[in-house]
Amino acid sequence: MGDCIFCKIIFGEIPSVKIFENDKIIAFNDINPKAKVHILIVPKKHIESVKHLQAIDKELVGELILSAQQIAKEKNLEGYKLLFNVGREGGQLVDHLHLHLLSPEW
Ligand code: 5GP
Ligand code: ZN
Repeated sequence: MGDCIFCKIIFGEIPSVKIFENDKIIAFNDINPKAKVHILIVPKKHIESVKHLQAIDKELVGELILSAQQIAKEKNLEGYKLLFNVGREGGQLVDHLHLHLLSPEW
């Protein structure tokens, strides 16, 4: 947690281009976009990955997806992809749960 890049972004210790924030979630532009729109939707609670989710996180995961839906609506995105990379083998480089919102080009 101490060295977590996304925790540092959440605490304002590393700058980011913020798209959305509430008490539980923050969303910001990916620093190295893989699509025209590439936003990361991140719970403020430090959870390492989908593998580390627990039943208590059920509502939070729903809110991540609904935040993505809301951001997409505000940005008038016709279509988009929502992606969780899980573990190194799954392409996860930052060990703090995050949902990628990508649209429209990879
Ligand atoms: P992962 O591969 O873990 O699913 O995705 C991590 C994402 O975080 C990558 O797309 C990468 O570009 C992005 N990223 C890594 N470091 C930073 C940072 O300091 N700021 C921002 N805004 N994005 C970052
Ligand atoms: Zn973290």
